[in-house]
Amino acid sequence: MTQAMTNKNQTGFTLWFTGLSGAGKSTISNILEKKFRELGLKIEILDGDIVRTHLSKGLGFSKEDRDTNIRRIGYVASLLSRNGVIAVTAAISPYLGVRQEVREMHENFVEVYAKCPLEVLEKRDVKGLYKKARAGEIAQFTGVSDPYEEPANAEVVVETNKETPEESASKIINWLTEHGYIEA
Ligand code: ADP
Repeated sequence: MTQAMTNKNQTGFTLWFTGLSGAGKSTISNILEKKFRELGLKIEILDGDIVRTHLSKGLGFSKEDRDTNIRRIGYVASLLSRNGVIAVTAAISPYLGVRQEVREMHENFVEVYAKCPLEVLEKRDVKGLYKKARAGEIAQFTGVSDPYEEPANAEVVVETNKETPEESASKIINWLTEHGYIEA
């Protein structure tokens, strides 16, 4: 990794979550935000659901619009991280190609795959979206009626059907510490 240091204490990097809806991207991001703040680190979360209400307002769920959404998030994350901030992104980001593109925009990029079998997610159905997708009320729903391309080279994989959210967050913190991105 390169040291994008803007002050003595903090290395900027982007922590890029990818995974199906309900896999735990937002939950783990929120735990990490708290932990990073406790360590006195600057952090910003770019949550897919929230980004779509302003930065990407008006975009839909075609491959083209999804890729545009991800490029925008990637661009903002790259600006933040190169200025010494931890940028955490929590968007499904289903396509490998554009994830690779945003990786290449960065010096320090850590991809985290929030992995969870579809059957478990459908049972969890945190936001009731799988039920609606199965009933045909939502079109192009990732994992049901739209593709999800699994990462081949994610730096960290959290298996959220086997771990608690705290355990998943600790796994990420440990990886970041071992690789010199943060000091525990
Ligand atoms: P996403 O942001 O990926 O759509 P959410 O974070 O909104 O997903 O929802 C994930 C759900 O899964 C939450 O209800 C959370 O409590 C549950 N969950 C169970 N185990 C885990 C884990 N290890 N990590 C994250 N979430 C988990």
